[in-house]
Amino acid sequence: MNPWKQLLDVQAVDTVSTQLDHRRSQLPARAELVAIEDQLAALRAEVAAVESEKHVLDKEQTRIEDEIASIEDKIASADRQLYGGSSDVKELQVLQEEIGALRRRISGLEDQELALMEQVEPIDERLAGLAAQREELDRQAIALTASLAEAEAEIDRERDEVRARRDELVAGIEPAAVQEYEKVRGQLGGVAVARLEHGSCGACHMKLSAVEHDRILHLSPEEPVRCEDCGRFLVRD
Ligand SMILES: [Zn+2]
Repeated sequence: MNPWKQLLDVQAVDTVSTQLDHRRSQLPARAELVAIEDQLAALRAEVAAVESEKHVLDKEQTRIEDEIASIEDKIASADRQLYGGSSDVKELQVLQEEIGALRRRISGLEDQELALMEQVEPIDERLAGLAAQREELDRQAIALTASLAEAEAEIDRERDEVRARRDELVAGIEPAAVQEYEKVRGQLGGVAVARLEHGSCGACHMKLSAVEHDRILHLSPEEPVRCEDCGRFLVRD
């Protein structure tokens, strides 16, 4: 028996298999997921930049607060001396002036801190906005990952069926013919065998010459025939 008739069925199954592979690699959810991951990466970079901007201001604020604390220590110590029982009026006056100067210094530092906090406020708002965007993108990524997995699983199920069908078909064909089929399929873009339809090759659609067509019609049905143009095996009824 001419194995190419059976291999035509294998070819049909293999073509479905190739289509499934293509569909699996081109699932829209995959491209959408890549786009979302790109957006997330850009967002993470933006968050890092804004955070480092905030970090500079935070450090400056800490520096101001440390300075205020150390001045407050100085005031406390001057206060202790002031109420320490000294009756030297001149000394007490100097202490009071010193305390006054320290308090003015603190007040200036507090103004600086307030100005800093006003700068931090819009940065915090930006960070909150970015965090909300990120949450939304994360949500979309999770949903897309799930729908992608579902679509892949569906295709994998179909592919398993197709493979099982192929195994059945191939089991009934002589191995040398299957090997030849695989070889030609590898060379000719995944299609090794086609039907001869009204004198034309079912794969490349080239019309066979009258001489060739006539020659084929007179061959034994067991004789393998190849398209004179594309080289694929031709199955005739
Ligand atoms: Zn052809």
